[in-house]
Parts: sequence; C-alpha cells; structure tokens
Amino acid sequence: MKREIKVALAGNPNSGKTTVFNNLTGSHQHVGNWPGVTVEKKEGKFTYQGTEVTVIDLPGTYSLSAYSLDERIARDFLLHETPDVVVVIIDASNLERNLYLLCHLLELGTNVVLDLNMMDVVENQGIKIDTSKLSRILNVPVIETVANKNEGMEGLKVAIVTAAENKRSPTFKIDYGKVIEEGITELSELLKDKALPRGYTLRWVAVKLLEADPEILENVESLPQAQQIQKAALECSARLERRLGYDLETALVERRYGLLEGLVRECTERHLGVERRHEISDQIDRVVTNKLLGIPIFLGLMWLSFQLVFTVGSPLAGLIDSFFGWLGDTTSGALEAIGSPGWFSSLLAEGVISGVGSVLVFLPNILLLFLIIAILEDSGYMARAAFVMDRIMHALGLHGKSFIPMILGFGCNIPGIMATRTLKSEKDRILTILVNPLMSCSARLPIYVLFAGTFFPERQGLVVFSLYLMGIVLAILVARLFKSIFFKHEVAPLIMELPPYRLPQARGVLIHMWERGSLFLKKAGTIIAGGVVLIWLLAYFPLHAEYASAQSLIGKLGSFVAPLLKPAGFGFPQAAVALIFGILAKEVVVGTLGTLYSAEGVALKAALLQHFTPLSAYAFMVMSLIYIPCLAAIATIKRETNWKWTGLAVGYSLILGWVVAVLIYQIGRLL
Ligand code: GDP
Ligand code: MG
Repeated sequence: MKREIKVALAGNPNSGKTTVFNNLTGSHQHVGNWPGVTVEKKEGKFTYQGTEVTVIDLPGTYSLSAYSLDERIARDFLLHETPDVVVVIIDASNLERNLYLLCHLLELGTNVVLDLNMMDVVENQGIKIDTSKLSRILNVPVIETVANKNEGMEGLKVAIVTAAENKRSPTFKIDYGKVIEEGITELSELLKDKALPRGYTLRWVAVKLLEADPEILENVESLPQAQQIQKAALECSARLERRLGYDLETALVERRYGLLEGLVRECTERHLGVERRHEISDQIDRVVTNKLLGIPIFLGLMWLSFQLVFTVGSPLAGLIDSFFGWLGDTTSGALEAIGSPGWFSSLLAEGVISGVGSVLVFLPNILLLFLIIAILEDSGYMARAAFVMDRIMHALGLHGKSFIPMILGFGCNIPGIMATRTLKSEKDRILTILVNPLMSCSARLPIYVLFAGTFFPERQGLVVFSLYLMGIVLAILVARLFKSIFFKHEVAPLIMELPPYRLPQARGVLIHMWERGSLFLKKAGTIIAGGVVLIWLLAYFPLHAEYASAQSLIGKLGSFVAPLLKPAGFGFPQAAVALIFGILAKEVVVGTLGTLYSAEGVALKAALLQHFTPLSAYAFMVMSLIYIPCLAAIATIKRETNWKWTGLAVGYSLILGWVVAVLIYQIGRLL
C-alpha cells in the first residue's frame, strides 16, 4: 500500500525554504493562497520509495508568536493541520538566530527534521559545525544541505521519510530557570485535566500563558473554569515579574537565546580568519552606523548612486534613442512604400514606437539603479541603512523595520507594500503601506531623467536625488500625521541583527537586477503599449481634427483638467493628459508625452523646452512623484488593507501632490 505523508517546510525568511521546496518537488507544485488571506501558499509532491510526500512551503517566520500575518499563518498550520514532519530549514551561517524558531517548534512538541542549509557559506566563513553533536543534544535528525546547488536533497528525503515512520516527540526542553519553571509547573497543574485544543501540549500552553499570547488567552476562554485560569495566569506572571525584577516576556526570550548561544558555542568551531572578518565588519559598522556619520553616509551613498546612474546611463540611453528614431522613420517609410493607410502608419510610428520608445530609452538608467540596489542589498549595507534610519523612524513613532519596505519601494512600491507583512503591529503596517507610494519607484525614474536631463543638464544627479529625498521626508511627515490622527501607540524596539558584510557575487547581483529589469520590460510591452495606443486613439479622433490638437478627444479632456494645474505652472492639456494616464503606470507619463508630441529622446526634449520652464518642470516632477499611486499599487493596497485605507491613500496623495507642486511653483516664482 502506498503511504502518504504531509511535510511542512518552516524557517526564517531567506533561509532557502523555497529553493529546497523546488528541489524536492520539481515541477509538481501548485500555488494557491492561504485561506482568507492573500499570502501565497505553495504545495507540491514527491515520491520516495513508495511514500508519497506532500510538501508545504510555509511563510518565513522568526518565531511562532502570533504577531505578524506570516507568523500566524505558519503557526495555525502547524497547530491545526498537524503535519507528519516539519523540516526546519535554517541558514547555518547564522545559526544562533535561526535556531530560535526551532526552539519554539520543539516546545510545541513537533516532529522535526533540522536542515542546516547554506553549508557552503558556513565553509567559506571558516566555521565548522559539529552536526552529530548538535543532533545529539537536540535529539533531532540533522541534515546538511546546499540548496541552491541541489546538494544534500537525497539525505533530506531519507530523513523526512524516516522521521515520519518513527514519529516521536522531541525530548529537548528549554530550561527557563528556577523561578519561571515554578510558574510553568503551577499553570500546568491547573491546565492538566482540561481538554486543550488538538496539537497543544501542556507545557506550551503554560509558557504561552505566561507570555500573555493573545491567541492562547482567547483559546483558554472556551475552557471550563476559564476565568480561574486567566486569573491564575495573570497573578502568576505578576508574581514572577516581581521576583525576576523585570518583564517576563523579555526573560523568556533571553533564556531561549542564552541557551542557544551556549548550544552554538558547544557545537561550532571558528578559524582565525573568521574572527578577523568579523573584526573588519565591526570596524566598518562603527563608522557606517555611527550616530553622527550614519545618516550623512547613507545620503552620500544615495547621491553617488544617482550620479552613477546618470553619467553611465545617459550615453547608453542616447544609443537606444537613435535606434527608436531610426525604427520610427524606417517603419513609416516602409509602410508608405507598400501603400498602407495613413492612420496605420501614424498609429505605429507616432503611437506605439514613440510612446514605448520614449519609455524604453530609460532602460539603461533603470538597470543601473537596480544594479546598485542589488549591490547595496547583497553586500549587507541595506540592513545598516535600516538600522541607521531606525533612530529617525523611532523619533517619529514608527518602527525601524518600516524602513525596509520603504527601501524596497525604491524598486517598486508593490513589493514594498507587501513587505509590510513582516511588521508586527497592524498600525505600523497600515502607516507604512500608506506612505510607501511616496518612495520614488523605478517607474518615476524615466520622468525624472527626462525632465532633469532637459531642464537641469548640469545637475541631473542632484535634482533626482532631491526628489528621492523629498519622498522620504514627506513619507515620514505623513506617517507622523496619520499616526497622530488614527493611532496613538507605543512602538516596539528594533531588534535587528546586522549580517556580516559580504562581497556581492556578480552572478547574484546580475540575477537580481535582471529579475526587476525584466518586469519593467514586460510592463513596457503590456500596460505602457496599451496605454499609448489608447492615447493615440484619443489624439487621432475625431477624424477631421488635427492629431493631438485642441479639437481631438484628448485635447478636450486635457483642456478640461488643465486649468486645475495652472497654479502649479503646467496648466496645459499635454501635461494634464500625461498625469491622468500616468495612473495606469507612472512610466505612461513619459510615454504619453512621447505620443502626444510624436517624439522621443532629443526631439521630445525640444518639445518640452517649449512648454515648461525649469521651475514648472520641477513642479511637474514633484507632482508625478506624489500625486497618486499607480493602479497596480492601489490594487495592492486594497488587497493588503481595505477600501477605507485605500481611499485615504489615493485622496491624501492627490491633495498633497497638488499642494506641494503649487507651493514649489509659487514660491519659486517669488524668488
Ligand atoms: P526562502 O525565503 O526561505 O524561501 O529562501 P529562498 O529559497 O528564496 O532563498 C533565498 C536565497 O538564498 C536565494 O537567493 C537562494 O538562491 C539562496 N540560497 C538558497 N540555498 C542556498 C545555499 O545553500 N547556499 C547559498 N549560498 N545560497 C542559497
Ligand atoms: Mg520563499
């Protein structure tokens, strides 16, 4: 008879779960959603020696507290679906921190296989892990793997199937010290004959009661003598805190980490070179995360990045521009020669080629920006940036961790918004989502590059830098404002560990760059091409009107909205139309201008010089930065929150964009 078992992969984010999952299941996988939420659920199958194994890739979590959405999903699954085996995949180069989750699982009594992944990194760091000792102390099977090279997967499969056959509860117990253990015993006694929900162990529930875990407190409510238990738990916690002299939750966390520290010291050996590497890392950090220097260094690096994006990117952009100019001329020439109707060649040359071309011209700049972001991420600097910004974020009542989704927003606001799932508090999450669209995503870059290159050729880098900075400052101010209106609460302290610096690997960096860059290309081929065709249609009709003139449909639409924009200095139809269609995707702003002026590159710049002054151009860039999240971002905000917050995000950004653009234009004129 065929045996069937269910296995869950658990681990911190970025420990290699998905890589292991793909190795194990190959193409036999299915991606859906967890019930009721939009977090992705991956499920797959493999067969090993007659056992059919269903594998579930859980969201990445650091612990099993029911704080963040991801943690709750993972925990609910482990508690209620009771998989036969849980493979805890950990980044072995970061043993102590990664083992924390394992601690929780062992406490829960789960049947665990420990997968020490990233053993290649461990080796490079000159660290030796005594796997058999670790396995002996923890009393769980331990497997070493290098998932991205598909190494160790056979061993993992054997371990999974074996563990499923001889199910056992772990014997490893965290010793919380005399005082806390007394409390645990006391509560366990009280809970002893109660029908605990399936999958819960006595000790675990007792510990969670001491931690005042909200979900467990709720669970307890359905038990007989609920009030008595709750009262006892509260009394017990208070008593323990008095005896310990400090916060009980902190005490529990500290005991676990203390234990892990000892365990890791026991089972690892470091070579001399590594100490040195850490020393160097520490020395760099002393400067980079310094109280006074940290923020100037962060800003300096950003400024340098933009200089690089322009000095290297712009000549390349020129090449692409000439190519599209040639393509447009050749296409309309060829179409004329074969006698195709005039509207068709206008659609192709003025619509599609000008529109899409005017956006694609910025591909080199965008790839360069992504390259720099990838290098900063892979080297470990981004984690420092978040750490440095934590002080400011804290002063403003936000969690330092909120800065990471904001940095991600520089690439694209959508992953930025989704990354807020890692934030513990729902309030932090909503605030961070609301301000994320103020981060200048890469779709704004073509607008900045076009306008800064046209109106501030000598200071492109500086101008663009000022826009990125303005986005960050506004985000912080807006978050502050909304916090004081909608929520008033304490923030959790930042417990962030800084990974050691690494020399970024060319391959990894290029892959990251390409992953993001190809999204931009895909967008150019779909939304942007569609948008410019729509705009061409509106500019071409009605038939007797001149292309894109005031009599065309688009001219009428533009003239209708343009007066609103007059105080900001760009109250003419083309700008209005570009902004309206920019809601589809911000790149469309440039695509629209290209289509309306039937030009890209140098010719487009010439057309803009006739309509904008440097001041109104700057106001226009500011408006493009702020005025509304793009359609996809709006949809993501709705998915992650509700209509109320989505409406607020759209409404405040429209008003704020207009106000700031008008202020800049009006004050600029006075000066
Ligand atoms: P998840 O967040 O846990 O699902 O992690 P992923 O599977 O997405 O992996 C995160 C990153 O680590 C990816 O870039 C992988 O290629 C890389 N990775 C996974 N396993 C290993 C490994 O054993 N060694 C090294 N050096 N990198 C790995
Ligand atoms: Mg994953």
